[in-house]
Amino acid sequence: MERQVYDHWGVPIKRDYYRGYLGTPHSCECDCGGRAVKELEDKKMKCPDCGSLYELRVGRFEKINH
Ligand SMILES: [Zn+2]
Repeated sequence: MERQVYDHWGVPIKRDYYRGYLGTPHSCECDCGGRAVKELEDKKMKCPDCGSLYELRVGRFEKINH
């Protein structure tokens, strides 16, 4: 299932768009129902609710802890 990704304005971004980015979209859906937000390193997003980290791998964001 595709993880929804959002830009700085909270607007959903299609995967075909962000896969070519040099940077990282603003936030993405978290498995806990919250939203992981870009922080720390450019290619990682962290969920403030559960602490899960997501990293861009091969064009999609995957959870890298928990
Ligand atoms: Zn979460």
